[in-house]
Amino acid sequence: MNVDKQLVIIGGGPAGHSAASAAARRGVAVTLIEREILGGAAHLLDCVPSKAMIATGGAMSFTDNLSGMGLEDRSAQVDVAALTARIESIKTRLSNDVHTLLESQGVNIIIGTARLASAHTVHVDAADGTTHVLEASDILISTGSRPRIPNFVTPDGNRILTTRDCYPPRIFPESVTIIGSGVTGVEFAHMFASFGSKVTLVVSRQQVLPGKDPEVAAVLEESFLSRGLRLFKGARATSVEVTADGVRVVCDDGRVSETTHVVLAIGSLPNTEGLGLEEVGVVTDGGYIPINRHCQSNIEHIYAAGDVSGKLPLSSVASMQGRKVAEQVVGGPKGPHRHLDYDKAASAIFTEPEIADVGLAEADAFASGRKIRVTKVPFSTTAKALINNDSRGFVKIISDPATGEVLGGSIVGRHAAELISVIALAVTANLKVTDIEESLLVHPALAEALADAAE
Ligand SMILES: Cc1cc2nc3c(=O)[nH]c(=O)nc-3n(C[C@H](O)[C@H](O)[C@H](O)COP(=O)(O)OP(=O)(O)OC[C@H]3O[C@@H](n4cnc5c(N)ncnc54)[C@H](O)[C@@H]3O)c2cc1C
Repeated sequence: MNVDKQLVIIGGGPAGHSAASAAARRGVAVTLIEREILGGAAHLLDCVPSKAMIATGGAMSFTDNLSGMGLEDRSAQVDVAALTARIESIKTRLSNDVHTLLESQGVNIIIGTARLASAHTVHVDAADGTTHVLEASDILISTGSRPRIPNFVTPDGNRILTTRDCYPPRIFPESVTIIGSGVTGVEFAHMFASFGSKVTLVVSRQQVLPGKDPEVAAVLEESFLSRGLRLFKGARATSVEVTADGVRVVCDDGRVSETTHVVLAIGSLPNTEGLGLEEVGVVTDGGYIPINRHCQSNIEHIYAAGDVSGKLPLSSVASMQGRKVAEQVVGGPKGPHRHLDYDKAASAIFTEPEIADVGLAEADAFASGRKIRVTKVPFSTTAKALINNDSRGFVKIISDPATGEVLGGSIVGRHAAELISVIALAVTANLKVTDIEESLLVHPALAEALADAAE
């Protein structure tokens, strides 16, 4: 036991619970305070419920395409009660698993709300009515984020919804306007379209998924348009008004969308108010806590990880940061290690088709004048795509023309979120295209397009 180290963690999402587990494994005395459920907003409100609904929606749209597979078309009906029960059971299961693991590692778990009382003490108002003042050698702030609400609209939980109001799925809107076309906006557009809603997506730029590879965004736009979604490109919503039978969204270019519901998907804000950060001297920037590569704030023993750190808002990144914090608490990594490189984080968008990317983007390379080699192979060249009756999408690998080192890649198509792991590993381990090309992969498999793109 690292008896001189007491780590107190505020927030039990992916960042907090990963740090707790990794620190306990290293003999640190850990207390974790969570005000709702272990697993955090990732399990309770955002990542898990949205992906569970997308999985059901995806299964429904899959049945639209059965005739091409030699089967009769049949239309699936959604059972809202069964879907709700399914989401609840996944959430409970994941949260219980975290609880069981941390308990078995000796982590002291308190359900309650915490704030800093000083640079080495944390005050907790526990859910059971007790209060605690905990001494800490190290403190981790991992309190996550919440949806950002634009100043021209107030969500009412009825017609004007944040993403968190969409589950449990009490309603499937007849029609919905989604404001925001980043990752969350397009995922919700896909999800509601799968359940039969008429969807209008307000896209403030000239492409959905601003910042992503334009070729990738184009495939998604084409898919949306072929499914009957309306795209208001280059439009910013300026007002949202509840009418007798729905909601009216007016955009700055004069276009108007009248639908039964509106979903706001315009990003998030960090949960850092009321934590006592300012009083203790922790520097914040726009509410986020700036960190160094060890996830330390301006006060060395006060760490921040996950969405509050203002880095990539992804569960996977939050978990990795949490593990890095645990390493740092016991004096830094032992043995060979890599510093966290946010530029090498893989990410996925769970739309139809699925999208994933990692590392250097083609557009960024051109913008910086860096010479790159780009190879693109459509899935339609693989036997598996024909067998699946789904030839959409492609694999794109970006490499260094001089050394052959894999620098990045994008995948659009079925199982993109799984397939990107191959390129992510290559990017992280500085592998070369020949390492992918010479791997003996499975046939028939979509991954064969990866080997072809590496040629
Ligand atoms: C709709 C949606 C879908 C997403 N899908 C994905 C996805 O597919 N893949 C992916 O990687 N990421 C996804 N994300 C992002 C992901 O959910 C976040 O990046 C992740 O939850 C961040 O983890 P965290 O540990 O920082 O915070 P959270 O998961 O937000 O956990 C923070 C916890 O801190 C607790 N807390 C806050 N204040 C206090 C306090 N004072 N005292 C005690 N406890 C407190 C909260 O109750 C919460 O449980 C999605 C986000 C959204 C909005």
